[in-house]
Amino acid sequence: MTEQSSRPNRSGKPRQHGENPSRGGKPQFRGGNAKPTTAHRRLRDEPEEKFIRRAIPDIDTPFTRMGIDARVAVNLPPMGIDAPSPIQEKAIPGIVEGRDLLGLAQTGTGKTAAFGLPMLTRLLNIGRKPEPKTCRALILAPTRELATQIAENIDAYAAGTPIRQFRVVGGASINVQTMRMERGVDVLIATPGRLIDLIERGAVDLSQTKYLVLDEADQMLDIGFIHALRRIAKMLPRERQTLLFSATMPKLMEELAESYLTDPLKVAVNPPGQAAAKIEQGVHFVNQGDKATLLAEYLAKHRDELAIVFGRTKHGSEKLSKLLEKWGYKVAAIHGNKSQGQRERALAGFRAGETKVLVATDVAARGLDIPEVAHVYNYDLPNVPENYVHRIGRTARAGRDGRAIAFCAPAEIGELRAIEKAMKSQIPVVGGEVPFEAAKIRERGGPAGRGAAGQDARKRPARRPSRAPKSTQRT
Ligand code: AMP
Repeated sequence: MTEQSSRPNRSGKPRQHGENPSRGGKPQFRGGNAKPTTAHRRLRDEPEEKFIRRAIPDIDTPFTRMGIDARVAVNLPPMGIDAPSPIQEKAIPGIVEGRDLLGLAQTGTGKTAAFGLPMLTRLLNIGRKPEPKTCRALILAPTRELATQIAENIDAYAAGTPIRQFRVVGGASINVQTMRMERGVDVLIATPGRLIDLIERGAVDLSQTKYLVLDEADQMLDIGFIHALRRIAKMLPRERQTLLFSATMPKLMEELAESYLTDPLKVAVNPPGQAAAKIEQGVHFVNQGDKATLLAEYLAKHRDELAIVFGRTKHGSEKLSKLLEKWGYKVAAIHGNKSQGQRERALAGFRAGETKVLVATDVAARGLDIPEVAHVYNYDLPNVPENYVHRIGRTARAGRDGRAIAFCAPAEIGELRAIEKAMKSQIPVVGGEVPFEAAKIRERGGPAGRGAAGQDARKRPARRPSRAPKSTQRT
């Protein structure tokens, strides 16, 4: 959705044959010299309102179910966006409702779509052209690079819709930017300094801006944009929706949030690669053949709480779920051999608390954000160490406590070592006989040799009595 792409008449009047939607010249059609088809001709000649109504795709996706317009949602699967990321799942429903939002999240969490998709949904329902010099939505970003990245994302999410974005950053011609703003724009993406310059020239009018996003707000403060932000705040209408995203919450940010936001919904997601501090972790050494019985012992202690069990293979996970079912547990499995429908049903049942145990492989579990999950069991240790952090991050969400127990068979000592190395700390032993090889590593201080867990483990004698009494197991 660049300025050059073709678009239908927005005036609601029939478009003249030969009228260029954006420039008044020849009509532009995708496919260069291709002859206009009947569909093209119809599209060109019909009022936009009709075009929009006719063009709404009949689709049902996790995003449309959260209130995202189908004309936007249809663009997501080809980009590999099939299910909402945790920040999207937490933020989108509230934003769609019109709430202000304070989001603690970094780049890489999917935050651009979290604010961009509801924003486009809202703009699509206006159906009028913006007035000269105005913008309906304003996105403020600290750097040119971030502004560009946001602009690219918005273009991709808005493809095929009449919504247009324009990016104003320093280092580009202010005259060109002034001229472009004459027409007004749906979405203005700006760095604060350049926006102030344009406002001072009388080129931008913020009186119609009802949707405001402050992205990477802490970085904007670091760069010294606080005065610019305070000035901009005063020019915006009071009646607006504001979303503020920041990776950290320093004192100054609290002040900024206070002045910009009204009763905001607060959401936070962990940066990728970092385990939440509130997860109580443990490793239980056990023979592979005894894992199922051990799991059942752990599950029996917390029958009413939600648990996710991670297996390594699709087949193994399916077999385990069947076994647990036979033993009387309410269990569902999600892995690559299950259809989308089966996965969604399994998740819905788990989310609703109808099934208490979800057996999953890594592929199927990515992005799961269910605050009630109190336990994660690594039934098989992942062979990609980073996946350990990802798996245990399924618990202790939304400020709750959570426990993560890793079952380590003698053949998995290498995996355990790699995980501890990646985390730069040792996982405390909560049960089982520490195999000789693992004991030696722990005696030396482990691969990391530091961290609370590491110190804790070093205090243990190398060949301690094997299985810890059940009463002392932290489960
Ligand atoms: P962001 O945090 O907004 O910079 O997004 C990081 C990347 O994740 C971008 O390339 C997005 O296209 C992608 N992305 C955003 N949401 C999702 C999702 N729900 N599933 C998969 N990828 C996503």
